[in-house]
This record gives sequence, structure tokens and C-alpha cells, in this order.
Amino acid sequence: MAREVRLTGIVLHANAAPCFHHCRYCQLRTSKPRAVSFSGFEKLVNRFLDWRIVSGRPEFEVWPWYGNSHEHDEEMLLGLRSIGRRLGYESDVVLLGGVAHRSMPEMRAWLQERRAAGIDTVVATFSGDREKHDYWNNKEGNWQFQLDTLHLAADMGFRLQERVLLLRDNLPSLERLFDALDTVEAAERNRWAIPLFYSGRAKRLESQRLTEGDFAALPKRIRDSLRGDHEKWRSERRWVELVREEGEPGPEEISPMLRVTEENLAWAEPLSCDEIIAALEERWRAAYAAMPSRRELCDGYSDPQGDKVYMFLGQMEHLWLDRYLAKNPAGFDIRSTHFF
Ligand code: SF4
Repeated sequence: MAREVRLTGIVLHANAAPCFHHCRYCQLRTSKPRAVSFSGFEKLVNRFLDWRIVSGRPEFEVWPWYGNSHEHDEEMLLGLRSIGRRLGYESDVVLLGGVAHRSMPEMRAWLQERRAAGIDTVVATFSGDREKHDYWNNKEGNWQFQLDTLHLAADMGFRLQERVLLLRDNLPSLERLFDALDTVEAAERNRWAIPLFYSGRAKRLESQRLTEGDFAALPKRIRDSLRGDHEKWRSERRWVELVREEGEPGPEEISPMLRVTEENLAWAEPLSCDEIIAALEERWRAAYAAMPSRRELCDGYSDPQGDKVYMFLGQMEHLWLDRYLAKNPAGFDIRSTHFF
């Protein structure tokens, strides 16, 4: 059955922020950014935000993304903060993932610059203790750099957020990691743990994905740190049950993605926002109409006994689609879907 879609927004997606890490679990296909002028990106985002107002479509969602890494120069930092304010973002965080290693005096100046821009929370993601983290993060010394930066940030009065990635390989090291994190005397902090995403380079790490049994066996301290939405995570078996129960869903809500490159900025420049959306809509509708439905993927390419745990249905469906594509020609433009 052909998929029907309903457009609810647009994603303006530029993988352009410099990233100095090469995580083996990266959600992106590549951590090598593709340079895009920030001023061109910012101008495009602001065009869409202005268009939303003048066209009376405040509900149409605009999702700008300049890259995972927060290794931003001043122009990017202030520009992204300004876009965030226009979008009503409440989050005032800076991520250490992807950031170049600097000395602690340099990091103090770097954090001060961010605080002046309104940032009050420092986020560090750990994929294990010490050398275990450095292996998965694929950058020597990153565990120590992040821990030292957390101590510094706490000393400077920032809130801390410690994110922990759960892999089968790093489970035995997590109690030691938590001990080290507990030495940071932060006035305010939260800590949460999540399993792998299913996207980008992380797709190659399915052997590291935790099963229902792994979750049940987690020490209490680790289990207590699972992110607040963990009760919605499901094993493949339970996602299959859900999809079979829901039958054929109504039209899917999608936000087509404009991949922001210098070429696409030049393409979009003379077009109105309506024309850009119309061009994307045509391609994305055609791609979704030609791809197998969720139910077809579930019936033909799921493992009804699968006990590995996925956070979202979209990720589960992505795996089913990959199994489908391993056996069938695509027959649709996968670049015009959210599964690319
Ligand atoms: S820091 Fe983020 S973007 Fe860079 S490699 Fe790691 S996960 Fe990917």
C-alpha cells in the first residue's frame, strides 16, 4: 500500500560545523563536515522564519541544523543563538562532542564566551570509562579532556548534563565512569543513559546494541540513570507487536529536508519559500509513495523474536528498510526520505 504523507515543516540541514572527533558511534555517515558559509545558512533560515509570519503559517515547522558539533566561531555561536530565540528554543546548552581539545585556561575563555551568549549548561557524552570511552569516541585523551572541562564548568557555575551511551562493550566500565563523574562538584546536574541510535556510522554497531535481557541485568545505579523516556523504548519484538496492532496508519507527517550545500544555496536564492517547498514536496511525495509501507516492511523484514532495544519506531523502521534494500532494488529516491 502506497504511503501517504502530510507536510508539516521543512528541515534545513547543513552538516557544516567543524567536528574534531571521529566517534565510532556517530549518528552521521561522516564526521567530515561540508563547508557551507554560515551567513548563507543563516539567511536561508531567517527567510523561512519571515515567510512563516507573512504567509500566516506559524504552525509550519522550520528545523535548522548546522551540524552536531558545537565547535562554533563567534559568528556561528551568536547566529545560532539568534535563530534559537526566534524559534523559541528553551535550551541553553553547549556540547563538548566534536570540540577541539584546548588547555583548561583556553577552555575557561571558551566557556566565558558562551556564557556571555546566554549558555548556562555544559553537556558531555561518555561512551565508557577512560580508555573505553577514548576507543569509542576515537580520540585519544577525550575522556580526560571532558572530565577536566566538567570540573572547570562546575567551578564556573555552569549546570552539567552528563550523557552516557550504553554499549555491550562498555557496560562493565560504567560504575567506574559514574564514580569519576561523581567527583565533579556541580551545584546542578543531570545524568542520563541511552542506547545506540540506528543511523549513520552507528548502524555498523548492531552487535553492541543492548537487549531486553541486558537492560534487565543493569546495576540499579545505571538503571536509575536511564533517560526519562526509557519506558517507551522497545525491543524489536515489541515494535512488531505495536505496528501490527496499529494497522495501516493515516498519512505520515513529514518535514522534507533541504540539504544545505553551497550549490543548494545558489539554487534556492532566486526561488520563493513556496517554490522551494513545492519542489521538495514533489520529490518527497513521489519517494514515499514508491517505497514499501511500514506494515509491509514489518511483515517482510522484521524479526518478530528480536530482543534488541530501539528508542524510536522511526529507527526500527529504518533497520527494516535496510534489510529490504539488501534484497531489493530501491525503486525510489532514498535521498528524498528521512531514511538516508
Ligand atoms: S562529536 Fe558528534 S558529530 Fe562528531 S563524530 Fe562524534 S558523534 Fe559524530
